[in-house]
Amino acid sequence: MYHKTSSHATEFISHEEIVNTLSYAKANCNNRVLIQEILEKARSCNGLSHREAAVLLECTDKELIASIYELAKNIKQHFYGNRIVMFAPLYLSNYCINSCVYCPYHIKNQTITRKKLTQDDIRKEVMALQDMGHKRLAIEAGEDPKNNPIEYILESIQTIYDIKHKNGAIRRVNVNIAATTVENYRKLHKAGIGTYILFQETYHKENYERLHPHGPKSDYAYHTEAMDRAMQGDIDDVGIGVLFGLNTYRYDFVGLLMHAEHLEATYGVGPHTISVPRICPADDIHVSDFKNAISDEIFQKIVAVLRISVPYTGMIVSTRESQQVREKVLELGVSQLSGGSRTSVGGYVHKETLNENSSQFDISDHRSLDEIVAWLIRLGYIPSFCTACYREGRTGDRFMSLVKTGQIANCCTPNALITLQEFLEYYASEATRKSGYEFIRAQTEQIPHPAIRKKTIEYLQSITQGERDFRF
Ligand code: SF4
Ligand code: SF4
Repeated sequence: MYHKTSSHATEFISHEEIVNTLSYAKANCNNRVLIQEILEKARSCNGLSHREAAVLLECTDKELIASIYELAKNIKQHFYGNRIVMFAPLYLSNYCINSCVYCPYHIKNQTITRKKLTQDDIRKEVMALQDMGHKRLAIEAGEDPKNNPIEYILESIQTIYDIKHKNGAIRRVNVNIAATTVENYRKLHKAGIGTYILFQETYHKENYERLHPHGPKSDYAYHTEAMDRAMQGDIDDVGIGVLFGLNTYRYDFVGLLMHAEHLEATYGVGPHTISVPRICPADDIHVSDFKNAISDEIFQKIVAVLRISVPYTGMIVSTRESQQVREKVLELGVSQLSGGSRTSVGGYVHKETLNENSSQFDISDHRSLDEIVAWLIRLGYIPSFCTACYREGRTGDRFMSLVKTGQIANCCTPNALITLQEFLEYYASEATRKSGYEFIRAQTEQIPHPAIRKKTIEYLQSITQGERDFRF
């Protein structure tokens, strides 16, 4: 029985409701009148239900798909402007007691090099990240109560926030660790984390259990209800996602939207971010073993329909995707990118030899952060190192109301410009700096609100005189 605000995973992610939704979408995929009505509703920027979104995803009419893409682009611009938030993953440990068949960190993998960073290693990694210009990290660790207990994660967060190196500081630490207890979520909240991120992998219970044969993660309900426990533990910014390719994309797309609807209906706060990773090659993982792997075209359609269905959410794409694919999905709704990433444990300091491999997945976009910043500027996006909302207490429902009323863009754009200016001053190459200064000047002139424009110009000037860390 489908029950949106139920505390039971199998009720708020009802298999029956997903199957009925998919039949409804299939039956209406050529219903131009209905699709036009759904698009009209989406134009009001209040989002769509999972049923409406499923119809759009199923649509094959080229003209209507072009309208979906156009709308996704406009909605993203309306909510967030043209800023793209930059972050980097930091792998703390690849010890894991789970058996996820799609991840090389699974317990039975004998070929991967197991590593865990000491606090001293973390300091070195973070300094390397700070030297690149990063301000926002997502820490990652496998599930292993012996090697990676919550105390280790909390100590690592503290270490990261404490490092003040040259002109840098990490200003926001997001956390991607296994589903845990309310008590542990409360500890993470007290440690000052930004977003708690946990991917569902797939919402299809039967396939989920097949893909996770052993270990604590094999408990579908415990994993699916993790965000509820996080909210009960006072974490109000949570990030959801599925690993597209593990199961049929249509099913997981609907499940993802139902999860967002559940969080919003139950806690008044939908997901802060949605990530859209696709299965990709890694140590003992071959994409060809996954018959549900999706094409670039489907991937783009998923991004666009998610953007118009959950307009308030941040959407994240990692370096799993190539430059070409990232360029396309930026246009369709992605608002956060990782850059200069290493997916191995200790990879920012230590280049692994041919006999070593501790990576979780192979990277497709190998460009440096400076190259990515220059590329975004060329495309007309403002690379942003902003972490203002979390530091100003704009989280949870407070953040959501600012996004939904379209006010957050008044903060995002100037914050993007002043944090980009900091990046240019301290970390950029000469060529990036030159194009960046011109770009900032042109973008500042376009800030519509005179008082915000004036303040932005003042902050930009102060940064050139050695001051930093301004925010709206
Ligand atoms: Fe462990 Fe996470 Fe990899 Fe599963 S996906 S094996 S839980 S690190
Ligand atoms: Fe993100 Fe808030 Fe900064 Fe906008 S102002 S980029 S929403 S932290």
